[in-house]
Amino acid sequence: MSVLDSKIPEGPLKDKWTNHKNKIDLVNPANKRNIDIIVVGTGLAGGSAAASLAEMGYNVKSFCYQDSPRRAHSIAAQGGINAAKNYQNDGDSVYRLFYDTVKGGDYRSREANVHRLAEVSGNIIDQCVAQGVPFGRDYGGLLDNRSFGGVLVSRTFYAKGQTGQQLLLGAYSALNRQIAKGKVTMYNRHEMVELVKVDGKARGIIARNLETGELERHSAHAVVIATGGYGNVFFLSTNAMGSNATAAWKIHKKGAHFANPCYTQIHPTCIPRSGEHQSKLTLMSESLRNDGRIWVPKNMDDVKSIRDGKLKPTDLSEDQRDYYLERRYPAFGNLVPRDVASRAAKERCDAGFGVNKTGEAVYLDFASAIQRYGKQEAAIARIGNPSTEKIIELGAAVIESKYGNLFQMYEKIVAQNPYKTPMMIYPAVHYTMGGVWVDYNLMTSVEGCYCIGEANFSDHGANRLGASALMQGLADGYFVLPYTIGDYLSNEIRTGEIPTNTPEFDAAEKEVSDRIEKLMNIKGTKSVDHFHKLLGKAMWEYVGMARNEEGLKKAMSEIKQIRTDFWNDVRIPGDNNSLNPELEKAGRVADFLELGELFAKDALHRNESCGGHFREESVEEDGEQKGEAKRNDKDFAYVAAWEYKGEPADAVMHKEDLEFNDIELKQRSYK
Ligand SMILES: Cc1cc2nc3c(=O)[nH]c(=O)nc-3n(C[C@H](O)[C@H](O)[C@H](O)COP(=O)(O)OP(=O)(O)OC[C@H]3O[C@@H](n4cnc5c(N)ncnc54)[C@H](O)[C@@H]3O)c2cc1C
Repeated sequence: MSVLDSKIPEGPLKDKWTNHKNKIDLVNPANKRNIDIIVVGTGLAGGSAAASLAEMGYNVKSFCYQDSPRRAHSIAAQGGINAAKNYQNDGDSVYRLFYDTVKGGDYRSREANVHRLAEVSGNIIDQCVAQGVPFGRDYGGLLDNRSFGGVLVSRTFYAKGQTGQQLLLGAYSALNRQIAKGKVTMYNRHEMVELVKVDGKARGIIARNLETGELERHSAHAVVIATGGYGNVFFLSTNAMGSNATAAWKIHKKGAHFANPCYTQIHPTCIPRSGEHQSKLTLMSESLRNDGRIWVPKNMDDVKSIRDGKLKPTDLSEDQRDYYLERRYPAFGNLVPRDVASRAAKERCDAGFGVNKTGEAVYLDFASAIQRYGKQEAAIARIGNPSTEKIIELGAAVIESKYGNLFQMYEKIVAQNPYKTPMMIYPAVHYTMGGVWVDYNLMTSVEGCYCIGEANFSDHGANRLGASALMQGLADGYFVLPYTIGDYLSNEIRTGEIPTNTPEFDAAEKEVSDRIEKLMNIKGTKSVDHFHKLLGKAMWEYVGMARNEEGLKKAMSEIKQIRTDFWNDVRIPGDNNSLNPELEKAGRVADFLELGELFAKDALHRNESCGGHFREESVEEDGEQKGEAKRNDKDFAYVAAWEYKGEPADAVMHKEDLEFNDIELKQRSYK
């Protein structure tokens, strides 16, 4: 019998959210002034939540480890944000966004949450436009849209290649308004290092002031975790270097179940690795697949000549190229979902067709789009018989207006001009669909502790569609949590201020100071990065794009060993009473070393292929789908929520069965 209660409201899918909102207990304005809420994280999820909760009248304490809330990782988001506005008149609707998201997630997400997400998606755009977010507009001044993978409509709103930055500036302005009013107290450069529970309820956190090393106690009536994803468990990823799992892991150890940790997204369009020295990978937005065509040479001789520098990709004629996504998936072509595109790139590179020196790169080519746009622009400008140069000039200008900053970034990193030669790309770890288990109200299995944004597991199933992380973060922060948290807080109006001079706070603070002391006293010989890289290697090799039983068992034992070595031999220079980035990293890597093992354990138990989780043992053996991932709905249509029991290997799984009443489970075909 499952201990999980997802609290999905009764009634027809399309009415659940409205009915739920109508029945949620409210907190009156005078009582809100007596209620404190801690929000950890100031990305799109945390920033929007803190601003909204304060606007509603609650007292908010907001935390981030950066020097400013607007440096949260969300700032890096490039491509766009989805919403079912149907501005293109191409048949979009709330239902279609819901349908695409559930299908894209390979039928491993919670139907009711996804429908709610689609319902509020339009409000997000209105809210952001009202804040002044400069979304891209068409010639007539209307908001423009582009397509992202896995869908057949254009529903992605964007601000060039800087959508996350612009949205975060919107949320940050709303947050600043509340900071100025005294409704939000901002704690920059503070890291949450422990959750404090009193009588089973989340009542506060221990935060470390990263500049002084001081441990601080902060109390509240509810704690909201909005601390982003855990992709950096792989060491190399497209995430910000500081992105980490510590807050999520600490609440897990205090009773919050961790759901589907193995669901990771490997993004197909990243700049390939150039060697061992790298500590970060760079994303080339998926929006580029709107206009770029992906290919490798058809013939092995051409591959070899390209690698040896004897041939350029532009020397190959159309019939010497294999546009493998267009060949394998004619219906979606280059716009297949990320998991499908990533595996297809790996398949070609594993077969020896990779085009760079390491054999881990495919081309993303804009030549056809430049031609197409150039001819169109020449026609608009009434240029009869335009020369090839003129067409290229006009076409390149269109591409520049759409993706200029991304092209510039590529040229700076790779030292090649992508207007003239195809980009080289390869898949990289990008996003984690798994995360802290939450119910429909976004409350974790610890009472009073909520989790929103990428840090929770709720909406994307086994694979996230492009442009839907920003949508989820802002939906949670602006439009869901501010309602649902009232359900809990309405019972807290008589609680009064929560003191911090209690045994529970004493114990939590002691736990933290003991841990820091232990780390500082190891005085070993190897850097934190040394262990992080070893972990990343094990994760990529055995828990990366393709997984099998033997590899996963190996991963679990290797990670355990790396963890033991870390606790015996890590060297942390400096001290605990001042700014010490190595100590910060050590704490985060210690948590990754536990999470990594649970991740592998989860991947091992899920003996099916779904979304980003590809088990080599579970592949279609014949028919049109031969070689594609094979899902097993009979045995695995559930959320695996793990309960902490000491060692990660001892974690106990609770199943939340997934029920689909409004959508038929189908083989996910993009052919
Ligand atoms: C390069 C890149 C491009 C992307 N492009 C897109 C896109 O075009 N469209 C899309 O939909 N998605 C995109 N994504 C995904 C999307 O950006 C993220 O999923 C989303 O921004 C996560 O937001 P968040 O608010 O949940 O977390 P984050 O933005 O990661 O914020 C985490 C916050 O938590 C704080 N924090 C973390 N731990 C602690 C702690 N222990 N104590 C105190 N504070 C803490 C941090 O300081 C930060 O403020 C992209 C991702 C990447 C990497």
